[in-house]
Amino acid sequence: MTTTLITGANRGLGKETARQLVAAGHTVYLGARDAERGRAAADEVGARFVQLDVTDDASVAAAFEQLEGGLDVLVNNAGIALLGLNGPEALAVFDTNAVGIVRVTEAALPLLRKSANPVVVNISSALGSFAANHDPLRPASQVSAIVYGASKAAVSMLTVQYARAVPEVKFNAVEPGYTATMLGGIENSHGRPVEISARTVVRMAVIGADGPTGTFQEDDTELGW
Ligand code: NDP
Repeated sequence: MTTTLITGANRGLGKETARQLVAAGHTVYLGARDAERGRAAADEVGARFVQLDVTDDASVAAAFEQLEGGLDVLVNNAGIALLGLNGPEALAVFDTNAVGIVRVTEAALPLLRKSANPVVVNISSALGSFAANHDPLRPASQVSAIVYGASKAAVSMLTVQYARAVPEVKFNAVEPGYTATMLGGIENSHGRPVEISARTVVRMAVIGADGPTGTFQEDDTELGW
């Protein structure tokens, strides 16, 4: 039995990833900071709900006390995209997108180390990729991507550094592609469906013992902006 925790999964990519991993036979803990919305999403996809705010150490600790049956797979999905170029908003973006991964990963490692095939998938973005940002075929970055993109560069580097420091656990970053979710509080209706984007996350969540670590995975069927 494979037990999986997905953060920020009451909607969007996280909820769809939960749905697909439940279908793949995983026991899924659907993490959400809001209990009502989290429970409703967990019921909808057949997952177990766990209250988890990735910016709150006490919340993270309390969530891990509720996990039964250990942990094999962690999907660090929770993320925000605030537009403001100012200290408080930049700190909030980094706190959620990057520091949140450190909080949750550190809490998860004791359980992951007991797993026969421990896997961490961090949701990054092409907006945080040096290679993608220098690619002339990609559209120019928007102002709102300055801080968000930097926070996702941190997500990718956290992935690489954890992969080097903790070789017994597989860490990979995923760029899911521009997706129709409510990221940033705006409906990205031009994005592709979550069902497609979640496939790359799921592909990296189910890798075997011979799978990669320290990589940045992008679905190459579509450029990921
Ligand atoms: P959504 O805004 O739909 O989902 C984000 C989720 O993160 C929500 O469930 C939200 O919960 C949760 N969340 C935010 N802050 C916290 C927190 N402090 N603790 C726990 N949960 C939190 O967007 P997406 O589904 O698109 O985003 C999922 C991930 O995919 C993010 O990391 C995002 O950066 C990344 N991504 C998205 C792309 C896109 O085009 N949509 C492209 C590339 C990457 P709540 O409902 O409580 O706010």
